[in-house]
Amino acid sequence: MSDATIFARATGAGRAAITILRVSGPKAGPILEAIAGRLPPPRLASLRTLRHGTDVLDHAVVLWLPGPRSYTGEDGFELHLHAGPAIEHDVADALVTLGARPAEPGEFTRRAFTHGRIDLLQAEAIADLIEAETSAQRRQALTQGDGALSRLYDDWAQRLRTILAHQEALIDFPDEDLPPEVEARLLTGIADLRAQMDAHLNDGHRGELVRRGISIVIAGAPNAGKSSLLNVLAGRDAAIVTDRAGTTRDAISVTLDLGGQRAVITDTAGLRETEDAIEAEGIRRAMFHVKQADLVVHLYTEPDRPAPLADVPVEDVLTVCNKTDLHPAPDGVLGISATTGAGLGALQAELAIRVTRLTHSAGAAPLTRARHRAGITEARDALAEAERAAWPELRGEALRVAMRALGRLTGAVGVEDLLEAVFGSFCIGK
Ligand code: GDP
Ligand code: ZN
Repeated sequence: MSDATIFARATGAGRAAITILRVSGPKAGPILEAIAGRLPPPRLASLRTLRHGTDVLDHAVVLWLPGPRSYTGEDGFELHLHAGPAIEHDVADALVTLGARPAEPGEFTRRAFTHGRIDLLQAEAIADLIEAETSAQRRQALTQGDGALSRLYDDWAQRLRTILAHQEALIDFPDEDLPPEVEARLLTGIADLRAQMDAHLNDGHRGELVRRGISIVIAGAPNAGKSSLLNVLAGRDAAIVTDRAGTTRDAISVTLDLGGQRAVITDTAGLRETEDAIEAEGIRRAMFHVKQADLVVHLYTEPDRPAPLADVPVEDVLTVCNKTDLHPAPDGVLGISATTGAGLGALQAELAIRVTRLTHSAGAAPLTRARHRAGITEARDALAEAERAAWPELRGEALRVAMRALGRLTGAVGVEDLLEAVFGSFCIGK
């Protein structure tokens, strides 16, 4: 770990009233004293005149944030400067002269991880919180950041450690020394843990869905009004609408906030038999999108009742009848008119209900990334192998594989190779 003292702007670019610079590292205290005079009381805002030698840089609010109770775990401070390029530039120059250097993307959070202030799951949650566009994403990131997932995985790791200790006792001491129920209890413990991991994995991907957004695809025959529907849902002309059938050759997507959930709605080429090669390619892609979708809005117009979509479970399909201004929708079918707007409120409400159902969290914190799914799957498979193991030594080995997979999730063991990927996606200043 580098012991450099780093700094970065914590506030956004563009015109603003203040610019916050954060500084972290062993030289933070001496640098703050050099530009702001004696150290202010910890964690209290103090107004100071900042100087570089005799040059007055700014009158600024200063926060002295000594470690280890700081974000990074190191000594640090914040300067709340008047926003302005000259101030920022000259203060940065002073910081560099005094021995600090500009931070790399994610370097503050990486230091927080290195110093044990947060684990890897919490670091990922900080990135998710910054990216969060909807309330559901914000809540999920905050829960994970508070350590909900970390506590679950730490608890499993703790139980595995106990099981492993019993397993090693079985190997080290011949069975005449140990009551026979030790092995039985150990096997029950493994089976319990595996069942909990199975339940955690079998969650309908709800955490990942909230994080990346629910994908909704509008499918249906040419001219059903798919592009018109996308446009009214998006509130702008995102897709081309024409009365010539087969105009939408490839998919167009817009992102929507549906009842606090992020949803990505995609308009596809109309599904029909065609001789036109380009349109045929569009339809092939449309079917691809339909199969990938979490939810399909199957749009049609009376009286052209559509055939059910091949390869899509009926519960993932919402059939909607468009152009009710021309032909009324039959009983029990949601009717809309993309041109008059009739029924759109009901459609949005129904979509929000279905999206919420997909992401509804019954209990514990959900996993939120493919990395988590891969890690828990590896741990679960290792436990299954431990249950099947013919020799105690093989069982012990499988248990250690499971422990290691859990440890990599929180970042407790062997994650050097992961850190670039996790922290490299952060912005500078985080
Ligand atoms: P797509 O091929 O399914 O994408 O259909 P479009 O959105 O391009 O619409 C095809 C034609 O139907 C266009 O002329 C639209 O103006 C028209 N259209 C779409 N929705 C309605 C509607 O609710 N009522 C009426 N009367 N016409 C509509
Ligand atoms: Zn279209």
